[in-house]
Amino acid sequence: MSRYVYFFGGGRADGKAEMKAQLGGKGANLAEMTNLGIPVPPGFTISAELCIEYIRSGRYPAELKEEVAANLRRVEQQAGRKFGGAPHPLLVSVRSGAAVSMPGMMDTILNLGLNDSVVAALAKETGNPQFAYDAYRRFVQMYGDVVLGLKGSRSPFEPLLTAKKKARGVERDIDLPADDLKALVGEYKAALKKLLPSGFPEDPEAQLWGAIEAVWRSWMGDRAVAYRRLHNVPETLGTAVSVMAMVFGNLGEDSGTGVAFTRDPSTGEKRFFGEFLVNAQGEDVVAGIRTPEPIEVMAQRFPDAYRQLVETYQRLERHYRDMQDLEFTIERGKLYLLQTRNGKRTGAAAVRIAVEMAEEKLLTQDEALLRVTPDALDQLLHPMVDPKADLAVLATGLPASPGAASGQVVFDAQEAFAWAHDGKAVVLVRAETSPEDIQGMAAAKGILTARGGMTSHAAVVARGMGKCCVVGAKAIEVDEPAGAFSVNGRKVKRGDWITLDGSTGRVIEGKVRLVQPTMSGHFERFMSWADARRRLKVRTNADTPGDAKRAREFGAEGIGLTRTEHMFFEGDRIDAMREMIVARDIDGRRRALAKLLPMQRGDFEGIFTAMDGLPVTIRLLDPPLHEFLPHEREEQEALAKQMGISADALAATVESLREANPMLGHRGCRLGITYPEITEMQAQAIFEAAVNVTARGVKAIPEVMVPLVATVTELRHQADIVRRVAAEVFAKAKRVVPYLVGTMIELPRAALTADEIAEVAEFFSYGTNDLTQTTFGLSRDDAGRFLPAYVEQGLLPADPFQVLDQQGVGKLVRLGIELGRGKRRDLKVGICGEHGGEPSSVMFCHEVGMNYVSCSPFRVPIARLAAAQAVLKESGVEDRTASTV
Ligand code: PEP
Ligand code: MG
Repeated sequence: MSRYVYFFGGGRADGKAEMKAQLGGKGANLAEMTNLGIPVPPGFTISAELCIEYIRSGRYPAELKEEVAANLRRVEQQAGRKFGGAPHPLLVSVRSGAAVSMPGMMDTILNLGLNDSVVAALAKETGNPQFAYDAYRRFVQMYGDVVLGLKGSRSPFEPLLTAKKKARGVERDIDLPADDLKALVGEYKAALKKLLPSGFPEDPEAQLWGAIEAVWRSWMGDRAVAYRRLHNVPETLGTAVSVMAMVFGNLGEDSGTGVAFTRDPSTGEKRFFGEFLVNAQGEDVVAGIRTPEPIEVMAQRFPDAYRQLVETYQRLERHYRDMQDLEFTIERGKLYLLQTRNGKRTGAAAVRIAVEMAEEKLLTQDEALLRVTPDALDQLLHPMVDPKADLAVLATGLPASPGAASGQVVFDAQEAFAWAHDGKAVVLVRAETSPEDIQGMAAAKGILTARGGMTSHAAVVARGMGKCCVVGAKAIEVDEPAGAFSVNGRKVKRGDWITLDGSTGRVIEGKVRLVQPTMSGHFERFMSWADARRRLKVRTNADTPGDAKRAREFGAEGIGLTRTEHMFFEGDRIDAMREMIVARDIDGRRRALAKLLPMQRGDFEGIFTAMDGLPVTIRLLDPPLHEFLPHEREEQEALAKQMGISADALAATVESLREANPMLGHRGCRLGITYPEITEMQAQAIFEAAVNVTARGVKAIPEVMVPLVATVTELRHQADIVRRVAAEVFAKAKRVVPYLVGTMIELPRAALTADEIAEVAEFFSYGTNDLTQTTFGLSRDDAGRFLPAYVEQGLLPADPFQVLDQQGVGKLVRLGIELGRGKRRDLKVGICGEHGGEPSSVMFCHEVGMNYVSCSPFRVPIARLAAAQAVLKESGVEDRTASTV
């Protein structure tokens, strides 16, 4: 029995699906399929642990050579062929495969084992020299590019191929006759030798070891490293190497190859969905070099193999209890499965598949809830092209990944990355994408390719990223070096705006109005299951009635934060606000506040009405005052004129308000303490609005929140004002509206003295944006300059402003809750920092016993699902199907 190598073939395999860690997803599933009796070519998988060892030491254990040789003999026996021999030569593929699927990110080598004598045997055996020399040509090219590292600008092969096609007057590779291909192999090898004196290795065994080491090295390649960073895949996994007997889909018209999904990966609909090419090798489908045909074509051309494929896919889906992504080949009419894995899918498809599989009793409802990552829901909520907009449609391609996006056209992935870094919205346009483009694709708002099908690299990667994508827009001619594409006589240049509609495949000229999506029945059913499980309430951060209404549609159960300052930036309100700030005395301030009062009251009436019957937390003014002031001379002159003071006097006031460190300066409750009339006005607006809407039959539930409290004395000062004003308003209106007064906990001192603070506060809301800033002593406005380096170098697991730092900030959160509830048992506790919509942080909030989280409207469904998953995790429910990747 091998220690490092696991055989599969002839209906028996050493490995199984659960052994992903050693065999990688691909190797584990090949083993599993073999054990299930599904036709898989024989082969073996080298354990991923050796990859890590190789990368660390540049070496592998001596026994490995023997183990590989012994397993290769078994493959020869199963296949009835000989590696490097005649008359029935064995060729193999050498494939990568980690425990987590990283499509296209690492290297694969096909047709390995060919040399001048083996190719002659293959030509004779198949009676098809054109096929044999085409395989040889491809192999030398792949070996040179991938194993010998010539890929990129040094690669000499493509120009030689183009020249050959030109000389012969043909367009497609497959139209070159055998003699040309044979000559081409000679030219390839000569070109290779010029660049690398050791040349192309003729010995199949040397080829095999070269390929195995190349796959190991590709684990540390740029693409793989970038992908791991984007998807949080640990580097310590390593890649397994699967060596498998080649079968050929390009032996002639009786052969073919394809990729299929057991359900539609875009919509989730239950239908067999796939693409197929007659007389082709698998890479032709995935690379998007030829545009494939729908799987239905296979049913007509190869009815027997098709029937077998249908039976196989149904079986695999039932076995794995998840949607599968299959690769298969038909060699001279006989079907082989080359791969199965859990299919990548859009957020909408993830929800629909989970719901329908639960309804089909393949899964329990709880498992269905665990199947969808909360972040995947984000895609469902993405905008669409306004159906009423007037559109100039330039072309229509395949709708590869839904959603819509507008951006400026770029043709180069690096440029996409650079422009996006500068804050531009970009659409990456390519003839076809390749794995090198990964970073540019991640940075772009949308991706458009002229070639390729629904399973092309661009389509698969974009769906995984939840990014809008249109592929195979054939009418488009991309001229990447010139930085332009032409379509039906029109030219679109680098920097021009286009809009992509990934749900219909339309490519639209210019920037188009986008609208918000409506929720499907599957989504609603899914969310209702989540709601039935969760205990944590989910509120929203909303500053306008419009946002509040949208959030309510997304399931928000109240408002956890209204930032009142946002209301002051709109229209002519800013003038009244500025007047208030620069007023010389209290009378001047009161005059300006009197102008602001009706505006605020109106806002609150709108919000209470939108949230009828649900709690609304309104925070008193928080930001440093100078944020509101005019800093440009022109603006100062205009305001001074309006106020009847000199521009110089105003400039002096602005200057006097400048702070060295505004985030730690005159802000939060410190404003209300130095200018209590601001707090009075805001409280008056809140309670008058509550009284007014109550008179109209609306149930208002105000919760007034004091920001940036460090000491209980500050809170008491502000709470006293709020309660006094409330009593005055209620007495005057002869109506009482129940309300709460509470505080944000966003400074370490507040968390540390939460017991004292709870004597006054009726609720706590954790402002984890500021709490993170003040716990780390890390400016939230400046951290962007250096924090990414911390994450890249592994000094921090994630940006603590996005993902709550549970060890540090979280400890203060926990302590504050304990101290607060120790004093006031029924203290209501929530969170309203950005973390309130981030799944792992939501789970933490559940664990520490918060009552609710509050997040932006679009993240409300994400938080609802994360809260449900927190309950499932707590009660030990697991998704029993984690066996494919
Ligand atoms: C916070 O600090 O977490 C918070 C919600 O307040 P703001 O982001 O407005 O400072
Ligand atoms: Mg704050």
